[in-house]
Amino acid sequence: MSDAQATVLILLGPPGAGKGTQARMLEEEYGLVQLSTGDMLRAAVAQGTEAGRAAKALMEAGALVPDEVVLAILRERMAQPDVARGIILDGFPRTGGQAAALDRLLAAQGWRVTAAVSLEVDDEAMVGRVSGRYTCACGEGWHDTFKKPAVAGVCDRCGGSDFRRRADDNAVTVRERLRAYHDQTAPLIAHYAAQGVLERIDAMGPIAQVRAALGRILGRVAA
Ligand code: AMP
Repeated sequence: MSDAQATVLILLGPPGAGKGTQARMLEEEYGLVQLSTGDMLRAAVAQGTEAGRAAKALMEAGALVPDEVVLAILRERMAQPDVARGIILDGFPRTGGQAAALDRLLAAQGWRVTAAVSLEVDDEAMVGRVSGRYTCACGEGWHDTFKKPAVAGVCDRCGGSDFRRRADDNAVTVRERLRAYHDQTAPLIAHYAAQGVLERIDAMGPIAQVRAALGRILGRVAA
């Protein structure tokens, strides 16, 4: 990290709220770097690292991975030079301990959170959103009901057919993940409200509408 304050945007919201979709769009449009602890943990699981071995069963059950495992992975990522472009935190922090550690990590560099945006949605709708989603190897996200490719089985973006579904994107696990969100992550809304950086967006609407609302916030607060 560098000392000059860069944009630090946190996306808060339950699984299915659109954090990853929005983070990828903002990354392209604003040149920010998306930091998804879920993606980092899935990579660790795939590589069979020590962190991955500690995380695997918890992720499959829809439970949170211990703070020290997540923080070690995040600290390592934050030490890369590209984060100086500004970051979008997607799925982190998820507990009070992680939020406090993030505040310390940023303060050590003279940084602070620019905005924490709560993507507000209805829980029941999230079960349907998450259990039907899948991703192309090129990164494009699709959904059995809400966003189908023009030609079944072929990605509109890259023409490929290498689609994947996450093991934890099923109705039973999503309910556990929603529970973890409300028990452990939703209290962070008050943490960021107290810091004066909280923003709320209605994230039940179309992707473009949510993106526009995020764009307005970034236009106002970006470093
Ligand atoms: P996500 O891709 O953000 O939906 O995360 C998938 C799973 O990874 C979660 O259900 C947790 O098991 C784990 N995970 C991701 N980020 C965190 C975090 N910040 N703290 C604890 N567990 C996490």
